[in-house]
Amino acid sequence: MCRHSAWLGRPATLQELLVEPPHGLVHQSWEPRRQRHGVVNADGFGIGWYDGDSVARYRRPVPIWGDASFLSMAPVIRSGCVLAAVRSATVGGPGGEEACAPFLLPGGVLLSHNGAVPVDVVAPLVPSAALAAIGSTVDSAFLAALVAERLAAGVAAAVSSVVREVGALAPDARLNLLCTDGTSVVGTAWGDTLFWQVGSGGAVVASEPSDDEPGWTEVPDRTLLHVTTDGVVQEDLS
Ligand code: GLN
Repeated sequence: MCRHSAWLGRPATLQELLVEPPHGLVHQSWEPRRQRHGVVNADGFGIGWYDGDSVARYRRPVPIWGDASFLSMAPVIRSGCVLAAVRSATVGGPGGEEACAPFLLPGGVLLSHNGAVPVDVVAPLVPSAALAAIGSTVDSAFLAALVAERLAAGVAAAVSSVVREVGALAPDARLNLLCTDGTSVVGTAWGDTLFWQVGSGGAVVASEPSDDEPGWTEVPDRTLLHVTTDGVVQEDLS
């Protein structure tokens, strides 16, 4: 996924979060402003959102701007925690909605990956039983499976350990992950941009700002950001 965005706060519609902002995720699908790799994000998209303990996903292998069904449901789906991504497929990778984030991990955890990593580096780290359950050969799905294996330590610790370990094995990998369990959001900046903004209604963590209003903070490269209702904490991953 080349651009992703998460919301944690008051219940808000997908329209408010993704469609209406002048440079929101839908706009970023065809005109991103900070993207370092790729030009448009037209190879699919996915949205995950929570309703209490339940999580739903809508993924399609088409540009988000052309999906009339998404545009019709966006004004009526409302959630206090949303994770969405638009995809620019890494060259040589598979297509299909199975390759689109967010990936669904045990416990209702959602994960998106912006970047690229050699599959032959990450696949051997995934236990063979978990490999059998992976629904796509996209590099991001292997990263998701690896995070899933480590969730017992908590979302932030799982993401941190995967990014550190894979980053050490593949120095050119881009490992910008965005992950949520419905009550907190964890993001990493590792080779591409990541920003956050806290407003009165909640927090946004996104690949790039969705508007030109003040209050956006850029996350330094090789850093993990952890947003909870208690606040925002950064961890140096380098
Ligand atoms: N490698 C991932 C994919 O192919 C993510 C691509 C990206 O961030 N542009 O979907």
